[in-house]
Amino acid sequence: MDHAGRHALVTGGGTGIGLDIARALAAAGAEVTITGRDLDRLKAVAAGTPRLHPLAMDVADEPSVRDGIAAAAGARGPIAICIANAGIAEGAPFHRETLDQWRRVMATNLDGVFLTFQGALATLGREDWGRMIVISSIAGLRGLKGASAYTASKHGVIGLIRALSEENMGSRITFNALCPGYVDTAIVSRNATEIAARQGMTEAEARAYMARGNRHKTLLQTDEVTGAAMWLCSEAARSVNGQTIQIAGGQVA
Ligand code: NAP
Repeated sequence: MDHAGRHALVTGGGTGIGLDIARALAAAGAEVTITGRDLDRLKAVAAGTPRLHPLAMDVADEPSVRDGIAAAAGARGPIAICIANAGIAEGAPFHRETLDQWRRVMATNLDGVFLTFQGALATLGREDWGRMIVISSIAGLRGLKGASAYTASKHGVIGLIRALSEENMGSRITFNALCPGYVDTAIVSRNATEIAARQGMTEAEARAYMARGNRHKTLLQTDEVTGAAMWLCSEAARSVNGQTIQIAGGQVA
């Protein structure tokens, strides 16, 4: 796969799933802008890899996204590949969820994808080639107990890519969602700590509990999500549009 000359933007590209996808795109020749709130961490990961370009950008903050995308496009051109990956996983039983928690999750996971896609699309012309991919979740396809805001936000982004695929029908830009189960990243480590404290388990037991949430009862590795993203970015996937791809060891919904 050759993405030489293409500019890719990966939000949350300094860690976990986003970093793995960013590295794969850079290895395929793309110039990859990786964004997040922690610029030092972005600089540290970019230092070891050619074609990774760190940029501080808070997806929950409109001016930050507007200015960030303008700076990235100014430096490296239109954003042909956009991976809306930044997200937070905060949960609480619904009766204890506060409006502040709900809004925090929505601001990052749903508004953040809206702002990112709108900004990236504005850099492209109607005739341009493009791939817009959002990292949703199995929580985009079914309800997760104790995670109502997260579940609603991940359902929401699937609605967004479906709408955008219709709105841009006939163009060479596709819109798709990846729906992983539990992937072995910092999110799972943080959840393990919380679940262990809440349920009186060890962290190893909490990780095993999450692994059982995948149909094959195994935590996923980031390369499994990256492989799907790279396929969606290939020419072979040019007619795959408005789809959700489950990566969870079996059928989710
Ligand atoms: P992660 O390592 O915690 O990645 C989350 C990334 O999002 C971080 O790089 C973080 O960077 C960034 N981020 C969070 N809030 C942000 C904000 N307001 N503005 C900009 N960047 C922000 O965990 P991950 O597992 O790779 O998660 C990546 C995506 O996959 C998320 O959308 C998550 O919901 C989704 N997902 C994960 C799993 C899983 O089990 N791991 C399963 C399904 C879906 P900064 O802290 O520097 O801002």
